[in-house]
Amino acid sequence: MSKPEAGTAGIIDAGIEAIRAAGGRVTTTKRLLLEVLATTPGHLSSDELASLVQGRNVEVAPSTIYRILDEFERLKLVEHSHSGTGPATYHLRSVAHGHLTCQRCGSMIEVSPRLFEDLVTGARQQHGFEVDPHHFAVLGVCAACIGLT
Ligand SMILES: [Zn+2]
Ligand SMILES: [Zn+2]
Ligand SMILES: [Zn+2]
Repeated sequence: MSKPEAGTAGIIDAGIEAIRAAGGRVTTTKRLLLEVLATTPGHLSSDELASLVQGRNVEVAPSTIYRILDEFERLKLVEHSHSGTGPATYHLRSVAHGHLTCQRCGSMIEVSPRLFEDLVTGARQQHGFEVDPHHFAVLGVCAACIGLT
């Protein structure tokens, strides 16, 4: 669901700029991780991201990838979410979206952040609460599974 106009090079450049602006060190591993995130669509756990970076002939411990993801989250380059099954997965913040996970078949639908607008506005107005609608998936039953019953 990446926006084509952003482009891989643009995403990597913007990431490197953000790291530098925050006084961080730009390493080969950080550069490669940005490249992997920009070129691999879908939902990858930190272990999966580590093996993709390792696949590019770089020796890197999964714990290093985890620390870099943490730094990327603080820089608002990346966000993670919990699908309700399996480990947390990471995506670029530029392609932010919510998730609907089926409790029967485990399939996950990516949805527009607009779907949560009423929830976000209502929680803010009525409770002064800032909802983070992407962090956890909304659980339920998908159309296909409903059709089977
Ligand atoms: Zn979390
Ligand atoms: Zn289903
Ligand atoms: Zn997602």
